Amino acid sequence: MPVISPKKPYRIGRSRTGLGLFATKPIKKGAKIVRYFGPLLDSRKKKDDAVENKYLFELNGRWTIDGSVRENIARYINHACRPNAESDVMPRKRKVVIRAIKNIEPGEEINYDYGTDYFKAYLKPIGCRCAACEKKRKKKRAEARAERLRLKLKAERKALKKARQAEKAIANEPLQRKPGAQMNGHANGVKLNGQHVNGQHLNGDGGQISTRKAMSVRPGIFTRASGNASKQKSKPARDSRALA
Ligand SMILES: [Zn+2]
Repeated sequence: MPVISPKKPYRIGRSRTGLGLFATKPIKKGAKIVRYFGPLLDSRKKKDDAVENKYLFELNGRWTIDGSVRENIARYINHACRPNAESDVMPRKRKVVIRAIKNIEPGEEINYDYGTDYFKAYLKPIGCRCAACEKKRKKKRAEARAERLRLKLKAERKALKKARQAEKAIANEPLQRKPGAQMNGHANGVKLNGQHVNGQHLNGDGGQISTRKAMSVRPGIFTRASGNASKQKSKPARDSRALA
């Protein structure tokens, strides 16, 4: 890391994206902070034009500062969408100075806007991590959390309502069933206990069959009976063939 004179109002420190430049003394709005410097590249020279790195600072169509040199302290300054400094470009002097656009307090990270081209090429693909964008992201996450919570509570309320309705339905069911049960009881009672019914059958065909008939209110018995009837029908057909 390059050595910085203690007279300077900044130091290199850890930032959320790696290293950054931080104020060590109050910096007044409009004050020059540091020069962005490095070898000048001439786009008319093939060798210069071939240079490619993240620290190229284009002055105009012809000249570019190659800020990738170690001594260029300004290359530690990170991008921010809402910065506290700016790059003051002087193309005629082929010079760039980073200047405060706000009063900067000690401890604050110094930032400037790298510009649209850099943003599109390097920051947009990975997501800008400046304070403003992080704040925006945090807000979005909080909103998403709130929305998830709202939906969860809504679902819980719905489930509770459903459970209450089911409870009510269960509470009401026996009241609806009771009359039915009583009716069945009556029906059975009449048939089973009706002495004249049982009495008549018992006296006639065998007791067991007649009691079953008397108890059978279910349709199942009737279908079984019709099945027997069809079997009985097929019998005469075989007989007639045998005869022929
Ligand atoms: Zn940003």
